[in-house]
Amino acid sequence: MNVMANRPRRLESYVGGTWVAGASEGKALLDASTGAPVAFIDSTGVDFKAALAYGRDKGGLALRRMSFHERAGMLKALGQALMEKKEEFYALSTATGATRADGWVDIEGGIGTLLSYASKGRRELPNSRVLLDGDIEQLSKDDSFSAQHILSPLQGIAIHINAFNFPCWGMLEKLAPTFLAGVPAIVKPASQTAYLTELMVRRIIETGLLPEGTLQLVCGSVGDLLDHVGGQDAVTFTGSAATGRQLKTHKAIIENSVRFTMEADSLNAAVLGLDAAPGTEEFDLFVKEVVREMTVKSGQKCTAIRRVIAPRASSEALIESLRNRLAKTIVGNPADEAVRMGPLASLDQLEEVRARIRDLSVDAEIVAGDPDHPSVRSGDASAGAFLNPVLLYCDKPGSARAVHDVEAFGPVSTVMPYDTADEAVDLARRGKGSLVASVFTNDPAFAEEVVLGLAPFHGRVMIGNRVSAKSSTGHGSPLPVLVHGGPGRAGGGEELGGIRGVKHYMQRTAVQGAPTLLSAVTGRWMQGAQAYAGGEHPFRKSLAELKIGDQLITANRAVLLEDIEHFAHFTGDTFYAHMDEEAAKANPFFEGRVAHGYLIVSFAAGLFVDPAPGPVLANYGVDNLRFLTPVSPGDTLQVQLTCKEINPRANAEHGEVRWDCNVTNQMGATVAHYDVLTMVAKTRE
Ligand code: NDP
Repeated sequence: MNVMANRPRRLESYVGGTWVAGASEGKALLDASTGAPVAFIDSTGVDFKAALAYGRDKGGLALRRMSFHERAGMLKALGQALMEKKEEFYALSTATGATRADGWVDIEGGIGTLLSYASKGRRELPNSRVLLDGDIEQLSKDDSFSAQHILSPLQGIAIHINAFNFPCWGMLEKLAPTFLAGVPAIVKPASQTAYLTELMVRRIIETGLLPEGTLQLVCGSVGDLLDHVGGQDAVTFTGSAATGRQLKTHKAIIENSVRFTMEADSLNAAVLGLDAAPGTEEFDLFVKEVVREMTVKSGQKCTAIRRVIAPRASSEALIESLRNRLAKTIVGNPADEAVRMGPLASLDQLEEVRARIRDLSVDAEIVAGDPDHPSVRSGDASAGAFLNPVLLYCDKPGSARAVHDVEAFGPVSTVMPYDTADEAVDLARRGKGSLVASVFTNDPAFAEEVVLGLAPFHGRVMIGNRVSAKSSTGHGSPLPVLVHGGPGRAGGGEELGGIRGVKHYMQRTAVQGAPTLLSAVTGRWMQGAQAYAGGEHPFRKSLAELKIGDQLITANRAVLLEDIEHFAHFTGDTFYAHMDEEAAKANPFFEGRVAHGYLIVSFAAGLFVDPAPGPVLANYGVDNLRFLTPVSPGDTLQVQLTCKEINPRANAEHGEVRWDCNVTNQMGATVAHYDVLTMVAKTRE
């Protein structure tokens, strides 16, 4: 269907495998610049209980049958398919008040998050359905009872309640880790901009890439949805602190201990260093960053800079620079290419922000901008939700309250002066927990003091200086690989952070038992588990033939003094512990000259390698190498090499095999232990 041609139109929810319209026409959603209706929204009549059950049963089951790599492949294909449709999303995005640059953050930023998770999933997760967390914990001396923490997908559904400011990114940044974990989702976008989310969900469903039941959409109120959540479900919320608190204390969420992640108000701070006086590169970068954060998405970003903390001596010059730059921000209808900042998302938001500016004015004076008289290049100044950037100055931030408590969710920031680094930290902390803070300094001592002071109160801290100026991703950009969320006022939640975000949708379980049984559960061989030695050399076996526990016990090899001498001169490693008997004896760890650790590893390879061409294609690394017992001249080495983990790669002729490599001496003591990582062909040639 051509969504654009039918505007304004009634949005539909996608539940139980079909698109359904609400029982009534519903509320009109207006174009932020012109006030013209874009769509109508209503969800009355939707059977929310049935939607939850459908997602859990159908979507959950299908996703859990897939491996991490299969789910990652699904995310990649989805990201690519959406990227092809991006212009359609951009076209509709202007109605939300977003310029092309704003739309990029939302649309391509969101799709990029899918692609980032796809790549992380393939590179950092095994091609299996269970994730191991940490090492084996040995619980007995004889290896007969051990434990392993595992993570498995929740068997419920994730409910994502999103804010109006990022109709695409807000959805996709949550779906990527949810789906990678193997959990289905219901998305509830904020009504104001739900038409863009609805369009994107239509395009997602049309790809046919997601198993049925994986993704459902509610356009409009969630009705009694939350009454039916259970202990295997997860609810995430982004929006106002008031709604967040209300949902967090919902009866069903409390009674069923439902995981609840909240991202609410955040009075993010940017600190200008004491060293960054006017005329320095850091001062100029700071000015640019504050202006960017005030104007991108018209300041409607949870990470925007609300509090500008600057050395008292630089404050006047800073205000002057900010005022000049902000005055150049061309405000108007984002459909107009010359416009740099669009309107707020709605007239309600405009009134809300004006009210919050009045609150802030108790502590601070307006030094740039006029909240009541918008000056626009295009769009309807009275019907559109326009607001030129407003800069305030609070001279006594140490005794002020509103500037640290009130979030004006628009192009609004307050400059506040400080005298010492301690004071700067104290002011930032008065925000009572934020998503992000930035520090602009070229002084390592200032960076250390301020960043360590800010860290416990923030989910992310960015240091800006001349060196990173070109490559920096900026104060306001949450990245898929970094955590996003903050303590206290910011909601106490955490999202993204690469694979960390996937684990939020999984249950961590400590599994205890005998090693053979534990290995069967985890798909990873461990010391003490059943092994199969004596057959064909495991390097002769293809991926299809290998099994966990296939083992090689090698012949013995003596380490002679000549070997140590030869290795030392050949490699140039003539460290005294290998070359000088007296000096080695004086070392607290050795009783005399010892073999190089790398000589042991090299001899071990010489013992276990099967030289002829075969299924083993390459050795691409070792993990967790430890030298545990010194090897003296005359000692004898032997290797036990065991197939530990097999990871076939999707869409490739090979996969990865992890081998447990245990090198022992003539006494049976382990001298070195590590994992050998190899690429192995799926079949024999
Ligand atoms: P709300 O808290 O009103 O809404 C956020 C989301 O919650 C929307 O999807 C909304 O749906 C939904 N919602 C509202 N009430 C309920 C309910 N009882 N049960 C279930 N879902 C509900 O925030 P707004 O989006 O209206 O924004 C208001 C203010 O919140 C902003 O001005 C800003 O100060 C702050 N905000 C902060 C953000 C941040 O990350 N720091 C992000 C966005 C907003 P619906 O739209 O249909 O009501």
